[in-house]
Amino acid sequence: MRGGTEDLGKSLWSDATRRPAPGIDLTAEDVQGLRDLRQDLNRLVQPPTSESSPEGGPVTSLMTLPTALRLDEHGRIQAEPRGTGWRQVASLALIEAYQAQCTDTLRRLKTCRNPRCATSFYDRSRNSSGVWHDVRACGNAANLRNYRARKRAGTEQA
Ligand SMILES: [Zn+2]
Repeated sequence: MRGGTEDLGKSLWSDATRRPAPGIDLTAEDVQGLRDLRQDLNRLVQPPTSESSPEGGPVTSLMTLPTALRLDEHGRIQAEPRGTGWRQVASLALIEAYQAQCTDTLRRLKTCRNPRCATSFYDRSRNSSGVWHDVRACGNAANLRNYRARKRAGTEQA
């Protein structure tokens, strides 16, 4: 994977983690593994009762992903992805998810309630009650649909 999108992703990840981006080479053979990983990660951020949640357990063999723990020069333990291709991407994604789970921030990673959108987002609301990736884009449209539906129901009952 080479190009502008990758460079943007590397920059954002490196800026957020203050760690150098791992060099990951992807080929066409990695596409299915990446799709399966995406499905597993989508399942991770959907609420358990979501109707759009796919059935069954993880598609990828996430439990076999290689990861290394290293004691750095500052005395901190660093988790590092191992493997190649999609497995290296999956290892990196699960390291981040595990660290978010340990700091109780994973619950803030959500899927937008708008089924037409289904964008994953990080809920920055104070009480972790956000359900829309963007209130103006998805929340207001849903509220307007609900308002019109209530108005129609009220008109039909009168
Ligand atoms: Zn949305």
